[in-house]
Amino acid sequence: MKCDKCSAPAVLFQRYSGLHLCKAHFFADVEKKIKKEVRKERIEGTLAVAFSGGKDSAVALSVLSDLFSRRGVEIVAITVDEGIAGYRDKALESAAMLVTELGVRWQVASFEEYFDVRVDRLDERPCTVCGILRRSLLNRVAKTVGASTLATGHNLDDEAQTVLMNYLRGDIDRLLRLDHPAKEGLVRRVKPLKYVPEKEVALYAVLKGIPISLDECRYSAGVFRAEVRSVLNELEPKHAGTKYALVKGLERILGLTRREPFQLGHCLQCGEPAVKALCQSCEILRGLQSRGNEAAK
Ligand SMILES: [Zn+2]
Ligand SMILES: [Zn+2]
Repeated sequence: MKCDKCSAPAVLFQRYSGLHLCKAHFFADVEKKIKKEVRKERIEGTLAVAFSGGKDSAVALSVLSDLFSRRGVEIVAITVDEGIAGYRDKALESAAMLVTELGVRWQVASFEEYFDVRVDRLDERPCTVCGILRRSLLNRVAKTVGASTLATGHNLDDEAQTVLMNYLRGDIDRLLRLDHPAKEGLVRRVKPLKYVPEKEVALYAVLKGIPISLDECRYSAGVFRAEVRSVLNELEPKHAGTKYALVKGLERILGLTRREPFQLGHCLQCGEPAVKALCQSCEILRGLQSRGNEAAK
């Protein structure tokens, strides 16, 4: 098969666009989608990039560093060490390779040093706890390094799953908060890979030779997400563009709703933004502590 744009050999057929693309045109297509997403925000000063070492964040970091290094924007990669033996250690090795190659600043922050917690030692709900603590820690470190914006590696598949999960649960509040305007104390988020399908992110990483960690976290991401993921992967080949339609559709709904930034207070314990008296991470840490005390008795 030949590329529909230049007749070089194709490396990919995009069913949703109907195009065969060669390597060069595939790279250009991914980079165009990333640029378009990033341009929705005005990025200056310091841009933090959440960087796990996996394919998504490695591709995001690599393209963003290319895009901004000549524009006077400093990139800081932030890696969260959750304390998962065997998984994070290896991921840190490939992360170190990429930051050295790109020459970007790198901050590693661990749950142990900030929260005195290792995910390894949790008895229950490790993914929920991990997700909340990771979000909170990324926000804190992004503020510490003076970043106005934090880029995360969520790809089209992740986003489509999240949107559909919230619809299926009827959780409209959370749905409307997915793309919230910046609020005091919370660093603005961008998702550069929001419209790049997961398979294409992987192909991009491989064809560009970007060092990535292939280790998956051994804690599963949740049964419901896995179910929604397989439903979407069944639908997509039969109805090309389903994932895109879900994500784009929500964006249109959000554009139609009047979005007044909801008021946030400050956590009584740590001072970070909070909806209730305590922020989510302090609440979760308090829960862990009291269970720990019970067990010690
Ligand atoms: Zn081509
Ligand atoms: Zn707090």
